[in-house]
Amino acid sequence: MTVTVIGAGLAGCEAAWQLAERGFEVRLVEMKPTKMTPAHHSADFAELVCSNSLRGDRLENAVGLLKEELRRLKSLILTCAEANRVEAGGALAVDRYGFSGMVTEKIRSHPKITVVEEEVTKIPEAPVIIATGPLTSDAMSAAIQDYFGGQKYMSFFDAAAPLITFESIDMEKAWFASRYDRGDADYVNCSMEKDEYIAFVEALKTAEEAPVHGFEDKHVFEGCMPVEVMARRGEDTLRYGPMKPVGLKDPKTGKEPYAVVQLRKDNALGSVYNLVGFQTHLKFPEQKRVFSMIPALHDAEFVRYGVMHRNTFLDSPRLLDRYYADRRNPLVAFAGQMTGVEGYVESTASGYLAAVSMAAKLQGTPVPDFPKQTAIGALAQYISDTSIGSFQPMNINFGIMDPLGYKVKGKANKNLAIAERSLAIIDQMLREHTI
Ligand SMILES: Cc1cc2nc3c(=O)[nH]c(=O)nc-3n(C[C@H](O)[C@H](O)[C@H](O)COP(=O)(O)OP(=O)(O)OC[C@H]3O[C@@H](n4cnc5c(N)ncnc54)[C@H](O)[C@@H]3O)c2cc1C
Repeated sequence: MTVTVIGAGLAGCEAAWQLAERGFEVRLVEMKPTKMTPAHHSADFAELVCSNSLRGDRLENAVGLLKEELRRLKSLILTCAEANRVEAGGALAVDRYGFSGMVTEKIRSHPKITVVEEEVTKIPEAPVIIATGPLTSDAMSAAIQDYFGGQKYMSFFDAAAPLITFESIDMEKAWFASRYDRGDADYVNCSMEKDEYIAFVEALKTAEEAPVHGFEDKHVFEGCMPVEVMARRGEDTLRYGPMKPVGLKDPKTGKEPYAVVQLRKDNALGSVYNLVGFQTHLKFPEQKRVFSMIPALHDAEFVRYGVMHRNTFLDSPRLLDRYYADRRNPLVAFAGQMTGVEGYVESTASGYLAAVSMAAKLQGTPVPDFPKQTAIGALAQYISDTSIGSFQPMNINFGIMDPLGYKVKGKANKNLAIAERSLAIIDQMLREHTI
């Protein structure tokens, strides 16, 4: 039996791998490199289009729990991420090229996976998993719309942060540290005095934005808001957001600075850094002008400027079930960001769950039941929750998981207890071979 998977992104690669590992022939169809989305640049699979971080790695953190569940479930993406880890304090950040290269190599060399390089423009015959991502090509978007009988899509913007070379940072004005000195000193911290910060915020507010083509709605996605939009929301918004100084002491003064821009390693070599949380839609010369006002970045060399892109996702609660499948046809499933999960790890998790569910349906065995006490199950139940009226994409968070049902003192302890409960369920499912 052959299963078609469309899109070799994070969700598609995970789905293809899980199906192949369960003995299915997989036809993985990817339009790169013949056709590229506005954010994809490499021919490799599972390309990280923006940050090189898969976010927090502690169990008190919901995305840390989701990652640990995926590790235990033998996720391809997590295995390759671990193998290409770069230091990033309490986060799992990767060398983006090493990571994508390894995923590509594993997929291409799997005896059960055949890669087809073409743009898919209509929904193929079932069984199929569609994982064409937030930048699904126009023809495929139209085909999916037709398939659902004109069901409306929502489009809005995501924003990506600029990259600069390490050697162009003035390290006389910056220092290495992680917030609260947790973990290794992985971040380059660029401090700002009050007058520097106020001038910077003013410049951001008035800097020229790039024109926006093809969208009537300039709605900004709250989870990935451009810095210029934050600056316009109030003088202190950035100081409480990406420029937060708490937990960082400038070794020169021994004091917490007024504001801090943090830079994180973007490749294993440490030659390229990204401006953490600095997604932006400013015109490129304006980015150079305004970001060079950060004292340590007065001569910054930009490897890539920040950009903004479309994000396409389904109204999943109306369309999909908790296995990411079409409610009308269980052998047509969707996975990844287009289902309304938000983020690299979440996209991976949906690819995993869609694939193992599809495999069970095809084998005639019970479909694995990931309850809402697990992060992976909670996410699937969130996107298929019919009680949600106006559906918005969601990162994993403890709020969508089942509560503990008993009191635990302190938020971190409570989250840890939720995480331990979840991992015990996953371990039991693995022991009893129900996955
Ligand atoms: C600009 C941008 C920045 C983002 N930044 C972050 C971030 O920093 N951190 C984070 O956690 N998440 C981020 N996201 C959100 C999301 O996590 C990523 O987009 C993630 O890559 C989604 O995984 P996916 O597998 O759903 O899609 P993708 O990884 O995009 O994979 C989809 C694949 O399908 C292919 N494809 C598209 N149409 C067709 C077609 N018709 N036929 C064949 N192939 C096709 C594409 O070429 C692509 O390879 C960002 C999203 C965008 C758009």
